Amino acid sequence: MTPIEKLMTWNRQWRLGAGMLLCRACHAQQIEAERAVAFKHDPGCESENLHSFPWNDLDATSVKPVQLPQALEPILQPSIPF
Ligand SMILES: [Zn+2]
Repeated sequence: MTPIEKLMTWNRQWRLGAGMLLCRACHAQQIEAERAVAFKHDPGCESENLHSFPWNDLDATSVKPVQLPQALEPILQPSIPF
C-alpha cells in the first residue's frame, strides 16, 4: 500500500480538524494532546474495537520527510566574540 493509499484508508475512518480528530461512524472526538489515551468511541460504534490510537495510525500513514541537500540546511551563525 502506498502512503497515499494508507492516508485515504485512514481518511475514510477519521476526520481531522484543528488539533483534533473525529470518528466518522460515531462522531466521537479526541484532541491531539490525548493521543496516548485509547480513543473512546460511542457505545455501539462499528469501529469501536478496530482503532484505539488513531493519531498513531495517522503518523504511520505519513510520507517520510524529504531529505534536504546539505546546502539547504540552516547555516549556524558563528557567535560574535566580545
Ligand atoms: Zn466511532
